[in-house]
Amino acid sequence: MPQKTKTTPMMQQYLSIKKDYPDAFLFYRIGDFYELFYDDAIKGSQILELTLTARNKNAPEPIPMCGVPHHAADSYVAVLVDKGYKVAICEQLENPKEAEGMVKRGIIKLVTPGTNLEVKPNQSKDNNYLAALATTEKNYGFAYTDLATGEVAVTSLPDLAAVQNELLNLRSKEIVMDFDVAEKITPEIKKLGILVSVEKPQQEYSEVSFVAQNLTQGEQKQAVQVLISYLVETQKRDLGHLQVAQEYEAQQYLQMDHNAHNNLELFRSLRTGEKKGTLAWLLDATKTAMGSRLLKQWLQRPLLDRQQLKWRQDLIQLFLDNYFQRSSLQDYLIKVYDLERLAGRIALGTVNGRDLIQLATSLEQVPKIKAVLRDLQTPLIDDLLEQVPDCQEVHDLITTAVVDDPPISVTDGHLIQDGYNQQLDQYRAAMSQGKTWLAQMQVHEQEVTGIKNLKIGFNRVFGYYIEVTNANKDQVPSDRYQRKQTLANAERYITPELKEKEHLILEAEEQSTLLEYHLFNEIRDQVKTKIQELQTLAHTLAQLDVLQGFCTISEQYHYVRPEFTKDAEVQIKQGRHPVVEKVLGKQAYIPNDVSMDPATDVLLITGPNMSGKSTYMRQLALIAIMAQVGCFVPAESARLPLFDHIFTRIGAADDLIAGNSTFMVEMMEANDALQHATSHSLIIFDEIGRGTATYDGLALAQAIVEYLQAKVHAKTLFSTHYHELTALADQFPAVKNVHVDATEEGGQLVFLHKVLAGPADKSYGIHVAQLAGLPNLVLDRAQEVLTGLEQETVPSAVSSEPVSPVPKIQESEVTPVPAEEQLSLFASASPTRAQEIVQQVQEANL
Ligand code: ADP
Repeated sequence: MPQKTKTTPMMQQYLSIKKDYPDAFLFYRIGDFYELFYDDAIKGSQILELTLTARNKNAPEPIPMCGVPHHAADSYVAVLVDKGYKVAICEQLENPKEAEGMVKRGIIKLVTPGTNLEVKPNQSKDNNYLAALATTEKNYGFAYTDLATGEVAVTSLPDLAAVQNELLNLRSKEIVMDFDVAEKITPEIKKLGILVSVEKPQQEYSEVSFVAQNLTQGEQKQAVQVLISYLVETQKRDLGHLQVAQEYEAQQYLQMDHNAHNNLELFRSLRTGEKKGTLAWLLDATKTAMGSRLLKQWLQRPLLDRQQLKWRQDLIQLFLDNYFQRSSLQDYLIKVYDLERLAGRIALGTVNGRDLIQLATSLEQVPKIKAVLRDLQTPLIDDLLEQVPDCQEVHDLITTAVVDDPPISVTDGHLIQDGYNQQLDQYRAAMSQGKTWLAQMQVHEQEVTGIKNLKIGFNRVFGYYIEVTNANKDQVPSDRYQRKQTLANAERYITPELKEKEHLILEAEEQSTLLEYHLFNEIRDQVKTKIQELQTLAHTLAQLDVLQGFCTISEQYHYVRPEFTKDAEVQIKQGRHPVVEKVLGKQAYIPNDVSMDPATDVLLITGPNMSGKSTYMRQLALIAIMAQVGCFVPAESARLPLFDHIFTRIGAADDLIAGNSTFMVEMMEANDALQHATSHSLIIFDEIGRGTATYDGLALAQAIVEYLQAKVHAKTLFSTHYHELTALADQFPAVKNVHVDATEEGGQLVFLHKVLAGPADKSYGIHVAQLAGLPNLVLDRAQEVLTGLEQETVPSAVSSEPVSPVPKIQESEVTPVPAEEQLSLFASASPTRAQEIVQQVQEANL
């Protein structure tokens, strides 16, 4: 911090503004630049690759400084916000020429990761959610909004883990809370890489009462209050597009936690982190950005409501049966721009002429869309048709007022059509008369002076002038012409008459530009009164868009309408994994049945690695999710229950939340399923127990299967490499074995990817190792050890005791397995043989 005695008035002003925004980069406007000072400058210059200079370079304590030109500021702000920082924009609030003393300055807005409206083109199909949190003794009020679209949702969550999960599912970049809450939980949230902002509402904003109008629960209201107050205070502008908060409960939907989203690759590919290769990617045949965002919201929260699902399915069927209407609908939807974001821009005051034309073009499609829907002659869409407001006044207003191809700037004129406003027409007539007069004057002056190339021109400094080339300057009538400017090859003159006309023309131009801006604002304000209708329209079109997309995808990939059973029965005939099928091609994919009658709880799936166990299990989960968003599914026929929750335990998960070991995560995920699954849930357990030593892994796996069939009764797909487990099917009627078939041809393993009844007879692990190219030395020895193990006669290298057989687990009791009983490949070899192997391996230079 600088010494007070030496601060100039301007730096005093800077510091007094900065103290209110300690956690933001302060962009301080000086003339044509935004300047950063002190630590902001040091850090900002590094991040933005700007030259770090200093103010008062020669003073004993120069002030670090860097700056960006004001016209390029947006891109610098975007870089900082993208990296998770906040930026406070400080403007000059008066014209420096007119200011008495220091120019007044103030923050006009705070740009933050959760409120950033600058979207890159590839992000327009995603929401950017700002979240907020409030606590009571019992639970958490959790609210979120997308500033660009104005939607607001709120719920209650039982614990911090649920909050973290919701934040990850929404991919929020920022969460707001009041000081007390922030003090307690900031570190937990920061682990997720999410910015925590603190908000202490300064007053009861009217926006808050509007958004919270339907809420009854205290903690939910509080969350909305913190959320919306933060928006009001950071945005400092109209937020008329904010919508009434929608309350939701996780239990109303098919629940999946963030791990399930990841494991099932709903939104991000596990391998690449990209959208490509995900279910959201596969199902997105939408024509609008709103539709694409809604599709993702549907996938976040698949339905439990049979009525709603039936409606979606019926509509898809209707589109399938009416190709002509569907393709017309698609043609119209393509011409519909992002109405939700346009409505937002109108409220926020960032709309320009081109946006309004986009809005009009979009609205032009509405009557056509309605006509196509009416043509389908079905009661299914009566409600929908009734809901769709026409917004034709908005369309007509824009098309009569705004020119077809307006400039981006709204302050430089050329926006408003002729004939819309009389006064504007008069200014324009004056301008055009003036210009005609100038043209006539040029001809006249050419004639009277005899200078053929004499011409009248204009520049910003001198206004209108008469230009004569040097060759002709002797012919200039010096009594009438007054010299104004000398160029290398010409002279420029003015006359009193010319200046008089100039005054009229420029006056008319200035007035007309001002008037155009005024008219534009008037039009915008009129459109603003229709924002809610535009939002309803946007939402309806988005739904239609997602459903026509489902129809397209279902037709293209031959999906069928699933049937929802009431008795916990799963019967999928010739099911396919939709994404793997798309990637491999339909020919290459081997379809498989899933058959679980009401009494079957657990399918134990055995088969070699790489045979398709994991694909088979994910296939069922994806079919269930597709069915519950209302889409058709990849199968020849599908009957399945409405699942309330999908639990997954697949592969090595990153533990974003707590940084636990892989096996700990595995057990935590398993525990989550065992504790929370109901008889309506679906559980996918991929090789549970592989993360630890053989015996205790097997022990745990067996105990889990026993517990699932005794207590949970969820539909469970359980893949395992413990062949010992397959014996459980003999003991428990609710456990069934299936295996993925593989065969040997000429000593090589061939995967058939076909799921058949009964357990697999071999592990094939060694064959997979062979495919992976392991040295023959290792493969041969492994075969030897395996044979020995199968005959249970392999002498132990470390202990003279024989290797115990797998301990039998009684009921759901898990007996801990002593460490010395745990098994490893070389521990079971004789000392001399082990030394031999080590030596041979060393010789082979491995
Ligand atoms: P596992 O879980 O048994 O190790 P995966 O399910 O990971 O095996 O499948 C391995 C590979 O086999 C997949 O990447 C996929 O390319 C292919 N595959 C799996 N199931 C099928 C199938 N039904 N049809 C065709 N290819 C399949």
